[in-house]
Amino acid sequence: MKNIEDLKKDYADLLVRAGLGIQKGQRMLITSPVECADFARLCAKAAYDAGAREVILRWRDDELTRMKYLYAENDVFDGVNSWDVDLLDTLSKEGAGFLSIYAEDPESLKGVDPDRIMRAQIASGKALADYRARQMRNDCPWCVCSIPTAAWAKAVFPEMDEADAMARLWDEILSACRVSGGNALADWKAHSDELQHHVEILNKYNFKSLRYKNSAGTDVTLELPEGHFWAGGEEKSTSGIKFSANIPTEEVFTLPKKDSINGRLVATKPLSHNGTLIEGFWFDVRDGKIVDLHADKGEDILRDAISVDEGASYFGEVALVPYDSPISNSGILFLNTLFDENASCHFAFGEAYPNIYGSENMTEEELKERGVNFSMTHVDFMVGSRDLEITGTTHDGEEVPVFLNGNFAF
Ligand code: ZN
Ligand code: ZN
Repeated sequence: MKNIEDLKKDYADLLVRAGLGIQKGQRMLITSPVECADFARLCAKAAYDAGAREVILRWRDDELTRMKYLYAENDVFDGVNSWDVDLLDTLSKEGAGFLSIYAEDPESLKGVDPDRIMRAQIASGKALADYRARQMRNDCPWCVCSIPTAAWAKAVFPEMDEADAMARLWDEILSACRVSGGNALADWKAHSDELQHHVEILNKYNFKSLRYKNSAGTDVTLELPEGHFWAGGEEKSTSGIKFSANIPTEEVFTLPKKDSINGRLVATKPLSHNGTLIEGFWFDVRDGKIVDLHADKGEDILRDAISVDEGASYFGEVALVPYDSPISNSGILFLNTLFDENASCHFAFGEAYPNIYGSENMTEEELKERGVNFSMTHVDFMVGSRDLEITGTTHDGEEVPVFLNGNFAF
C-alpha cells in the first residue's frame, strides 16, 4: 500500500496528465488557496515532469477576500484589475492548461453585503466574457479539483478535531478520484470509459424531451436542442488535447433548449454559492425562465444569483448522476459543488456548454436559435434523489425510462 504522501503525488500527477493533458512546451496556470501551497507545489513539479514550459501561480485566500468585501472602498466592486484580465486572456489564447484548486470555506462570505458580491460578479462577468467563452468552448484544457482546507474539513466533519477532519476529507477525495488503489492513471481511465458508455447510449437515443419526477417535488419537462450531444469523462480541447474538466466527475451532461423547461425543480442538497449556504430551495420555471423561487436560507443570495443578467434566470446544463455513485454512497454532504454535484443529478442556471455538433463553426446568433443560453454565470444545483424518475421521449414519440429509482435504467 502506498502512503498518503505518495498518493498525493499520484493525485497531482493525475491532475496534470489526465486533468489537463499537459504537453511539452505548454504553460500551466494554477489557481490555489494559499493554504494549499504544498499541494500546488506537487502539481507544479508534476507539470514540469510532463514537460511544461512554465507554471504560473494565482493565489487565493478566503480571509483576505472576506476582508476586501468588508473594508475595501465601495467602487472597487464595480471594476476588475486589468492585469488579472490580461493574465487570463493571454494564457487562454495561447492554449495554456488551467488548474483550479477549489477548496472554499462554504460560508467564507457569510454576512457580507450581498450588493458588493453581486456588483463584483457582474464586473468580472463582463471583463472576463472572452476568457469564459474560450473556456466553455474548450479552447484551453481546464480542470477543477479540490483538496482539504481546515475550514472546509471542519464544515464537513464538525464533530471531529481539525487533524482528523483533514485526514478524513483527504481519504474521501483520493477515493472519489480513484487514486487510493495505487494506479491512479489507469483507474481514472477505466472510470472515464464507463461514463462514455452512458454517453453513447444517450446519444443514440437522441431524445427530443425529458421528464423528471420525484417525491421531493420536482416535476419538470424539458426539450433538448436539435443536434445536441451528451458528454462525460474525458473531453477534447479544440486543439485536440484530451482533458477532464472535473476530477472527480461522475456526470454525463448536455444542455436544455433555453425556452423549453416547464414545472418545478426542487433542490435536494444545500448549495454553497459566493461563500454563502443556500438551503431548502426550489424554482418554478415557465418557458425556460425562473418565474418564482423560495429558499429557507440564503434566499436573497439566490435571487441575486439568478439576476446578474438575462441568461442567469434560464438554464444551461442538465446532468445525470446515479444515486448509487461512490460520492453519493459515502453519505457525506461535502458543501462543495465539485463533490455534491457528482453525488446527484443536477441542473445549472446560466451559461450553457455548447454541446451541439458543429457548434465551433456557428455564430452566437445561430447557437441562440438552437436554444443555447448565454450568461456570465453558471451555477450547478442538485435535484437527484433515491426515487428520481426520468423518462425520455424520442423524436418518434417512443417513451424510454432513463432513470428509475434514482439510477440509470439502462
Ligand atoms: Zn455538471
Ligand atoms: Zn455545471
